[in-house]
Amino acid sequence: AQSSRYRPIKRLEESVVNRIAAGEIIHRPANALKELIENSLDAGATMIKITLKDGGVKLLQIQDNGSGIRHTDLPLLCERFATSKLRDFSDLSKMTTFGFRGEALASISYVSASMSVVSKTKDQDCAYKAYYSSGALAPPKPGQSSAPRQCAGTDGTLISAEDLFFNVPQRRRALKSGADEYNRALDVAAKYAVHYGGRGIGFSCRKAGSNVTDLNTPASATNTTLDAIRMLHGNAVARELIELKPMEDERYAFRCQGWISGANWSSKRSTMLCFINNRLVDCPLLKRSLEALYATLLPKGGHPWIYISLDIRPENVDVNVHPTKKEVHFLDEEEIVEAICVHAQTCLAGANASRTFQFSQA
Ligand code: ADP
Ligand code: MG
Repeated sequence: AQSSRYRPIKRLEESVVNRIAAGEIIHRPANALKELIENSLDAGATMIKITLKDGGVKLLQIQDNGSGIRHTDLPLLCERFATSKLRDFSDLSKMTTFGFRGEALASISYVSASMSVVSKTKDQDCAYKAYYSSGALAPPKPGQSSAPRQCAGTDGTLISAEDLFFNVPQRRRALKSGADEYNRALDVAAKYAVHYGGRGIGFSCRKAGSNVTDLNTPASATNTTLDAIRMLHGNAVARELIELKPMEDERYAFRCQGWISGANWSSKRSTMLCFINNRLVDCPLLKRSLEALYATLLPKGGHPWIYISLDIRPENVDVNVHPTKKEVHFLDEEEIVEAICVHAQTCLAGANASRTFQFSQA
């Protein structure tokens, strides 16, 4: 009986390996969108336009005005582990780009029924359009050539992915309604729009077929982060925010700044926008510690609104710990979180003191 149960070990086919990996990287439209936004930012885009159908499941489209992709690079674009950003393993310790592994576009091409790219660099006279499937160039229609074709287009890149998870039924079933997926995607875009709103980069997001945008921030050099917060989250929050003044810590080699709600703001749920080296991440320890600080400040059941941008030396950050890079590890995490909480407390106390002062003057 033992021997009949025995199954020899065999290598999986590369296409199977890549499809499994793709499922680990792309969970739902919102995190495919995050990868695409980060690619556009890596390409130096100043305007990023997003269009979604059915929350991104039917269509996920992103257009940027970044560097574009040379037509000679198109054959490798969606191949797994093909990247323009990392060359040696040692580069990993000093990455300043969001991407490095060359897995995002490959993954999207594995889980979507159809993916196309239109791109133009400044030095090309025209744009090129290419279709992809399972990591490689694919013909637009069966029987046609898969070679990229010349077409009209502006500088930058337009990427469209259709029918996400058409070949992963259990994943497709696990997704929430189109409206819910849309809100998750919009949330990612809105967070990046806040962080980059003060850095001259604009975002828009709309549902396919609609000409009203659900999010629209300009690529304006004079806009501030607070302007972007006001546009996206409303004045009710923006006017209650206190600046987390820029601070620099030499000992742990980090800088931070942000906007955090004061004692007058309280909500049923926390809002936390946390960026580490410009990357949107979950930082559970920082979130918990700040919430503990606010628990002493807000009425019971009340939660804060927090935007924090943290810069840590790239060599102290490990971004390669999570397939979706949703969490990062960094050196001296506890000490850094503690220092930020102390600083937040000081900024809150300072703001409170000046408010009391204003009040007693009136
Ligand atoms: P990674 O970002 O880790 O390099 P991706 O699969 O996300 O891997 O992208 C592969 C490559 O495609 C990138 O290294 C980059 O050269 C190119 N690329 C992707 N998106 C864009 C874009 N929007 N503009 C210009 N180049 C892009
Ligand atoms: Mg990338």
